[in-house]
Amino acid sequence: MNILVLNCGSSSLKYQIINMDTKDVICKGLCERIGIEGSKLTHKVPGHDNYVVEEYMPDHKKAVELVMAAITDKDHGVIASVDEIDAIGHRVLHGGQKFTASIIVNDDVKAAIRECFDLGPLHNPANLMGIEACEHAMPGKPNVAVFDTSFGMGMEPKAYMYALPIEYYEKYSIRRYGFHGTSHDYVSHRAIEISGADPKTAKVIVCHLGNGASVSASIGGVCVDTSMGLTPLEGLIMGTRSGDIDPAIVQFICNKEGISVDDMLNILNKKSGVFGMSGGRSSDFRDIEDGAAEGDESCKVALEAFRYRVAKYVGSYIAAMNGVDVIAFTAGVGENDATTRKLVCEQYLSYMGVKIDDERNNVRGQERLISADDSTVKVYLIPTNEELKIALDTQMLIENK
Ligand code: AMP
Repeated sequence: MNILVLNCGSSSLKYQIINMDTKDVICKGLCERIGIEGSKLTHKVPGHDNYVVEEYMPDHKKAVELVMAAITDKDHGVIASVDEIDAIGHRVLHGGQKFTASIIVNDDVKAAIRECFDLGPLHNPANLMGIEACEHAMPGKPNVAVFDTSFGMGMEPKAYMYALPIEYYEKYSIRRYGFHGTSHDYVSHRAIEISGADPKTAKVIVCHLGNGASVSASIGGVCVDTSMGLTPLEGLIMGTRSGDIDPAIVQFICNKEGISVDDMLNILNKKSGVFGMSGGRSSDFRDIEDGAAEGDESCKVALEAFRYRVAKYVGSYIAAMNGVDVIAFTAGVGENDATTRKLVCEQYLSYMGVKIDDERNNVRGQERLISADDSTVKVYLIPTNEELKIALDTQMLIENK
């Protein structure tokens, strides 16, 4: 069985075809600058040179058409015709409160994705366009929506309610949703599998540390809490996002600088995080680490603050679950940065017996136990695989249709 996985951003489209018998990625690619001058598609087949198509893509419909042409191209393609695709799995950012799990797309599902445009203004419209483009290009093939928010639907009201007048929850569904759900779901279940913890009771904390970053706590695979909120702005310090701040800062800076709330939100999303803290040096954690190593004080503080915030969330989630069995690190920083993993665990959690084995921790991007044998908590590096999780959900739904 071949599943096409699509991840549509506001001006991009990433795709993979996964052979579900072997779990191999047969090909993958990226359409960039959709709707902007200079659009291009880069198609990658393992063991072959990249195939690049430079052609204007006014919208995601055209992008999907070019993807179809690339995957069936007689020289660069991997399948003879789109009939060899059994289903399409779509990453959808926001499912509101309606979707607690992935679902086969029908008219009601599309209407619900549309209803959530307010909550995911950049992504949901693109996600829906991707679905409709596939319906058009491959009529009759099942499309499955996999929501970034469905993992967070496991939370109880005490975790997802904000202490605001309840009318805003009732009128506008203002609550914590959480994001990176596909990653947290995949990594937390993988952590249970490889650690041998009891799948019904395992207390797991996943630190998804990338350009966007979030932490989740789950018991028996059900989300108890997660650091992102109504939007992906809350929680950890990220590449360019501020994470948690005192909400009164918004009004204070707007008044001082004479800027609007929209301007301020743009600053909090795009100009803050380690980028802002380092005086605009970079949003890339490697550059921040280089800066800190060269003695740049603002980079040092940004890096320390990032790790400190991660540890504070981990600590609070240990309290939320009254314990923890497994901690897992994933995403760009979590998979590559041994120092962050070590410091989060040992600078802040050694009091409770969390111990990292330096030799095991000296690794990048490989699934591995990194804690010492006498650590009270098992700590793992688990590379995330959101595409595989989307494909697995898609396969499960179409097989049980
Ligand atoms: P992601 O959003 O998951 O793709 O992660 C991207 C982030 O991972 C970027 O900020 C990279 O700088 C960071 N990253 C990748 N490799 C390393 C590394 N060796 N050390 C620290 N950060 C890294």
